[in-house]
Amino acid sequence: MGVHHPECPERLDAINDRMIAAGLDIYMAYHEAPLAQMEQLLRVHSRGHIQNIEDSAPQHGIVHLDPDTAMNPGTWQAALRSAGAGVLAIDLLMQGHAKTAFCSVRPPGHHAERARAMGFCFFNNIAVAAMHAIEAWGLQRVAIVDFDVHHGNGTEQIFAGNEKVLMVGTFQHPFYPYCGTEHPAANMLNVPLPAGTRGDVFRQVVSDIWMPRLREFAPELICISAGFDAHYEDDMGSLGLLEADYAWVTQQIREIAALTAQGRIVSMLEGGYALSALGRSVAAHVKALADL
Ligand SMILES: [Zn+2]
Repeated sequence: MGVHHPECPERLDAINDRMIAAGLDIYMAYHEAPLAQMEQLLRVHSRGHIQNIEDSAPQHGIVHLDPDTAMNPGTWQAALRSAGAGVLAIDLLMQGHAKTAFCSVRPPGHHAERARAMGFCFFNNIAVAAMHAIEAWGLQRVAIVDFDVHHGNGTEQIFAGNEKVLMVGTFQHPFYPYCGTEHPAANMLNVPLPAGTRGDVFRQVVSDIWMPRLREFAPELICISAGFDAHYEDDMGSLGLLEADYAWVTQQIREIAALTAQGRIVSMLEGGYALSALGRSVAAHVKALADL
C-alpha cells in the first residue's frame, strides 16, 4: 500500500511471531494459499471488476484505486492468494482434514463489493469462501460473523437477500464506511456500536442478539471476518475489545458450530493495525478456534 500505510506486511510478521511466542505454531498444520481461480471469483464479483483489478496493476511503483487502496506490482497475486486461502480452507474442512482454519491473509476483503475495490480490499475473501462452500460443496446455510471495527459493507452488498447466507456483525458507528444501519436486508443482522464500547457491552450484544439468530439459522458452516481493529490499543477505531473478548466470542461461535455445523469454522483475517495487539488477539482467537 506504500510506506506509512497501516495495512502493512509487518502485520503478518506480528501474527507469525506471536504464534511462535505463544507456543501455538506446533499445533498448527500450515498450508500455502493457492491462487483463487477465475470461476471462484466470478461467484461474487463481476468479470469487469476482476479485469479492472488486473489491468490496474502497475509494472512499477504504486497506483491508487481510491485514496485508501493502492496496488503495487505484487498486489494482484497477493489478492488472488488471499481469496484462494479461503477456498483451500473450505476444501480442507469439507474433506474432513480439519475442523477449523484461520487464514492469515492480506489484503483483507470485507469492504470489496461485487464491482468495487475499496478500504484496502480488492476481492471479498470471505464471500468467495462462503460461495465456494455453497456452490462447490452444496451447503444450504452458511453464517458469516464479522467483528471488525468497520462494517463489512462489501459482504453485505454481495449477500443481501441471499437466503443461504446469514451475516451477523458488530461495528463502530458512525464510522467508515458510513453504512449498515439503514434498512439492511432480512438476512443481515447489523449491530452498530458507539465509540468507546468495551467488551462487556460487546459480549451482551453477542449473547442477546447474535446467538439466538445464529441458533435459529442452524448454519452448516460458519465463516468469520476476523478483524482485530476493534481492540482497545488499535488507533484505527475507538472500540475497546481485549484479547479475552476475542477468545470469548470465538468460543461462542464454536458452540454454534458444534451444534449444527460439525464444528466447521473458517476464519479470515480482515483488519487489525496495532501490531502487538493484533498478534496477541490472533493468538487468543486461534487458540480458542483450535480448542487448545
Ligand atoms: Zn477494519
